[in-house]
Amino acid sequence: MRRGAITQGSVLKAIAEYDELGRYEFLARYGFGEARSYVVVHNGREYDSKAIAGVAHQWDQGRALRADEFSGGKEHAAAWLKRAGFQVKAVKNPDWARDEIILACQLVMENGWKGLDAQDARVVELSGLLQLLPLHAEVERNEKFRNPNGVARKTFDIATRHPEYQGKPTNGGALDVAVLMEFLARPDQMAGVARLIRQGITIGDLQRLPPTEDEELDDYSAPEGRLLMRRHQARERSKSLRKKKIASVLQRGMPLECEACGFDFEQVYGDRGAGYIECHHVVPLHEAGEGRTKLSDLALICANCHRMIHRRAPWPTPGELRVSIAQKHAADRRAAEALSRPLKAADLLQMPNQVI
Ligand SMILES: [Zn+2]
Ligand SMILES: [Zn+2]
Repeated sequence: MRRGAITQGSVLKAIAEYDELGRYEFLARYGFGEARSYVVVHNGREYDSKAIAGVAHQWDQGRALRADEFSGGKEHAAAWLKRAGFQVKAVKNPDWARDEIILACQLVMENGWKGLDAQDARVVELSGLLQLLPLHAEVERNEKFRNPNGVARKTFDIATRHPEYQGKPTNGGALDVAVLMEFLARPDQMAGVARLIRQGITIGDLQRLPPTEDEELDDYSAPEGRLLMRRHQARERSKSLRKKKIASVLQRGMPLECEACGFDFEQVYGDRGAGYIECHHVVPLHEAGEGRTKLSDLALICANCHRMIHRRAPWPTPGELRVSIAQKHAADRRAAEALSRPLKAADLLQMPNQVI
């Protein structure tokens, strides 16, 4: 049995059987639940996509798939149906990402911390912008994705979370509150971040970024959101910049070692590590927006230290990380010395219960 190897013809047969039996009987016959994430659209009607994909297997693969044998999401059913040429639609739109909330929060701030209506030109404009952001895959969106109604609702979710708002908050999640608090604490910086995201979208800079795996970004934390973080990564990974930086360090007769911990890849790994080091862009993202990267903006950093820098915002500079590594070493040394010091009579007196 080859899971997912289904043809357009067998999907159409499954759809015909669904139409004939009706939704609930079809789902019950094959043991599927109602679609929670995706539906397949055919002739203007919507069908539970996982059930259709599973049942289509009986003509191509000899038997229908059971619900517990595959997922309904984009790894399985949704992807298979798309491949067979069908339109697949998300039932529910994805949660708002940090970047999107930053843009909405900026608008609320400009509006004196009040929510805006769906007819407001600024809401209509933001709605169009959010639809351009390369944050959510097409298959995860439906036709209501970030429409003016949804954007207006979000502005009220944010406005009603403002500490000075008297009534009950409308809705919204923890991320709305977190972003709002950051705007209240650092309005200029956050407004700058919003401006950079807008700018990046307008000139097409952010749409062109290479996609980054979500899991990889989960290990990273930046107040600026995912898009600017991606831009930051793209700059750090630029092969030509890295090459130039390494060449400039070698030219000055300096070793290729980590600026935070001193790690030298060649010393540890021999030939395999020769000439290897990562580059870290030391200018904060919200300041690094415009202009080209200068070699002096890049620090040589080993892979471990690089991860540790990006792990939590605010990011330490390589120099700050070096100081904290040294402090940790010193504390460890003191502890080790205390343990290895020979016992003195005074120590023994403090241990009355010990057998001497
Ligand atoms: Zn290091
Ligand atoms: Zn970095």
